[in-house]
Amino acid sequence: MLHSSAAFLGELRVPAPVLVWFRDDYRLTDNPALSAAVETGAPVLCLAILEESADGLRHMGGAARWWLHGSLLALDESLHEVGSRLLLLKAPALNALETVASITGASAIFWNRRYGAAEIALDSTIKARLTDRGLKVQSFSGRLLNEPWQVLNQAGKHFQVFTPYLRAVMARPVAAPAPAPKMIPGGPWPEELARLHIDIDDLGLRPTNPDWASEFAPIWKPGEQNAQRRLRNFLESNLHGYALGRDLPAQDATSRLSPHLRFGEISPRQVWHAVTHLVGERPDLSQDAQKYLSEVIWRDFTHQLLHTYPHLPEKSHAPRFENFPWEDDSRTLSAWRKGRTGYPIVDAGMRQLWRTGWMHNRVRMIVASFLVKHLLIDWRQGEAWFWDTLVDADPANNAFSWQWIAGSGPDSAPFYRIFNPVTQGEKFDPDGAYVRTYVPELSGLPNAFIHKPWEAPVSVLKSAGVELGKTYPNPVVPHGPARERALAAFRSLRNTI
Ligand code: FAD
Repeated sequence: MLHSSAAFLGELRVPAPVLVWFRDDYRLTDNPALSAAVETGAPVLCLAILEESADGLRHMGGAARWWLHGSLLALDESLHEVGSRLLLLKAPALNALETVASITGASAIFWNRRYGAAEIALDSTIKARLTDRGLKVQSFSGRLLNEPWQVLNQAGKHFQVFTPYLRAVMARPVAAPAPAPKMIPGGPWPEELARLHIDIDDLGLRPTNPDWASEFAPIWKPGEQNAQRRLRNFLESNLHGYALGRDLPAQDATSRLSPHLRFGEISPRQVWHAVTHLVGERPDLSQDAQKYLSEVIWRDFTHQLLHTYPHLPEKSHAPRFENFPWEDDSRTLSAWRKGRTGYPIVDAGMRQLWRTGWMHNRVRMIVASFLVKHLLIDWRQGEAWFWDTLVDADPANNAFSWQWIAGSGPDSAPFYRIFNPVTQGEKFDPDGAYVRTYVPELSGLPNAFIHKPWEAPVSVLKSAGVELGKTYPNPVVPHGPARERALAAFRSLRNTI
C-alpha cells in the first residue's frame, strides 16, 4: 500500500520522482547517475545517507568525517543553485531508502558504483529489495577512469603489475565529462520527508570537544567548486615541473586533489581531460602531464586491485607475511604516531599528518617504511592510523600503499628496500625546510645536522637551543641495527609458504 503522501502526489499527477543516492560522488558535474536522473524528465530527489556500521561498512575515520561534513554542505549549496536540495539521512541505507521510496512513491533510484566488497554486497541487497518493490534501480560508472573489469590483459585477466596496466589505460579513450545539469526539477518535499531530514550539524561529523581539526579549515576547502579551483591553480602554476617537484615535500608541487577525488567532488575524467586539453595547447608540459596522469592511473589501479582482492585492507596479500614476527610495542608505536621518533623527517611527516590531515607522498613512504621496517610494527597499525587521520583516507589507495611498502602486496616494493630516514631527508629535503616547518624545535640547526641532530657537536646543539632527550627525542631505534633486525625478520619468512 502506498503511503498517504504518495497518494496525495499521485492525485496532483506529479510524476513519480527518481531518487539519486550520492555516495562519495559529491558533485554535479560529470555525475552520470545525476545526469541520467535529470534526463528522465521526472522530479529528482537527491539524498545522502550516513551509513552506520550497521551496514557492515568500515567506520569512516575522524579526518575524513571532517571532510565529509564540508562536502555535504557544499553539495547542498550547489543543489540549491540549480533548484534542488540534499535530503540527509542517518540510518541503515536499506531502511532509509525504503522509507523515502514509500513517502515519495519514487519510481526509480540511480547511483554511481563503488568497488569495495562490503559496499558491493550492500548495494546488491538494496538493489534486489528495491527492485522487488517495483523500483527501477540503475547504477553508473562515475568514480574511476575505467571500471575494474574494463582493463584486462591479453588473457582476459586483471593486471597485477602497474606498468602494463598503465600502458593499457593510456591506449584507451577516456569519456568526456558530462556537464552539470542547469536545473534539477525538484518534486514536492512532503512533511514526512522533512521530518526524516537530519541537519548536517546533527550528524556529528566534525569534532567539537576538543576540536583537534582546528588547523584543517584554513588549509582545506571541501566541495566541488573548490576542487575545480584547485585543479585550475595546479595546472596554471604547478604542473610545470611536477615530475621533479612532486618528490620535494617542502614545495607545494603536487595537486593536493586527493581528498577531493576521494569524496568524488571532482571526477578523474575531469582531471584527465583538463590535463590533456592543456597539453594540446602547451606541448612543453607533456612530460610533466604524463607523470601526473600516471599518478591518477595509480588510483584506478589500486581500485581494480581492491575489487579483485577485497581482503587488501585486512590481510597481507602474500600469505607468508601473515607469519611475520611483528613487534607489539606500544611505546614505539606511540612515538611514531606523535612524531617523536627522533628522526626529523619521520616526525615532520607524522606531525604534518596530525595537524593538517594530509602528508606528502614521499614522506608517507618514509614514515610507512619506518614503522614497518625500523619498528617492525604490523602495517595494519599504520594503515589504521592513516585511515583515522587522513582527510583523503581511501580504502583502495591506503591499503594498497601500505602493503606496497610492507612488501606484502601485489606489485610491491621488495621488503629489503629499507629507506634510510637520514639520507631520504637529505635527498628530498636538502635544506631542511620541511622539517623546520613541522619540527620547529630543530629549526635553529644548520642544514648539515637537520636530519641527524644526534651527530651535531654539543656547541651546535646548544646554540640551536636543542637538548636531545629533552627538547627533542633521541632516535627511538638506531638505524643500522634496526635495519639488520628487519632483514633478519624477513629472512625468517623464507622457510614459510
Ligand atoms: P598528486 O601527486 O597531485 O597526484 C594526483 C592524484 O593521483 C592524487 O590526488 C591521488 O588521487 C592519485 N595518486 C597520487 N599518488 C598515488 C599513489 N601512490 N597511489 C594511488 N593514487 C595516487 N592516497 C589517497 O588518496 N588516500 C590514501 O589513503 C592514501 N594512503 C597512502 C598511504 C601510504 C603509506 C602511501 C605511501 C601513499 C598513500 N596514498 C594515499 C597515495 C599518495 O600519497 C596520495 O594520493 C598523494 O600524496 C595525494 O597528494 P596529491 O593529491 O597532491 O597527489
